[in-house]
Amino acid sequence: MGLGPTWKLRSAPACTTPADDLGTAHQPATIPAASAPAAPAGDWDGLAAEVRDCRKCGLCTARKQAVLGVGDVNADWLFVGEGPGAEEDQRGEPFVGQAGKLLDNMLVTIGLRRGEDVYIANAVKCRPPENRTPEAAEADACRPYLERQIALIRPRLIVALGRPAAHTLLGGEIKVGAARGRLHDHGGIPVVVTYHPAYLLRTLPDKAKAWEDLCFMRTTMRRLKDA
Ligand code: URA
Ligand code: SF4
Repeated sequence: MGLGPTWKLRSAPACTTPADDLGTAHQPATIPAASAPAAPAGDWDGLAAEVRDCRKCGLCTARKQAVLGVGDVNADWLFVGEGPGAEEDQRGEPFVGQAGKLLDNMLVTIGLRRGEDVYIANAVKCRPPENRTPEAAEADACRPYLERQIALIRPRLIVALGRPAAHTLLGGEIKVGAARGRLHDHGGIPVVVTYHPAYLLRTLPDKAKAWEDLCFMRTTMRRLKDA
């Protein structure tokens, strides 16, 4: 299946954010300061070494390599997916397969490029066999690594791609359809929930909703930067 149409802000309907979306949204307790000093590189090196050698859950047995994440470690944006697929496991980078191409297109629509002001990670760092959804115990075992990434990056906004990512970040039973379009909170950092790109490749009608979500994210980031 093709990835098109590539989304372009100019050719797409204008972003309209219903007035009460942000008005009624939960306002995070703290917004990370833009001028906060970057985390020492050693913290990242330690984290990368731990994840590379991690055997805290059964996903370690079938992986070729653990996939920590990629991008700008001082990014305003953090995107969180589910877990590496076959290509990611081979190459050691998240979202490099078909879903990744769509994610890259999505990033472009909000003025981002992989590696520039955006960091991309997954809820679990090792590939689940047959690309199954990570089990709760696996996601629980891996969550501390994501927490450390969040603490090091201190993004202004986190985007949860799909239900497993939303569940990992927000807890509870989350349905993307119900959770999208408003702000959630993860330890003081605002979170937006949207569809996973792999789901969008299978479910074209929901691409329009994903478009709305991108507009919402962009508006939210502008608000956060102005705050
Ligand atoms: N799907 C994900 O959730 N993460 C990846 O890295 C690739 C596909
Ligand atoms: Fe460790 Fe996470 Fe890989 Fe499980 S998925 S082995 S917890 S890095």
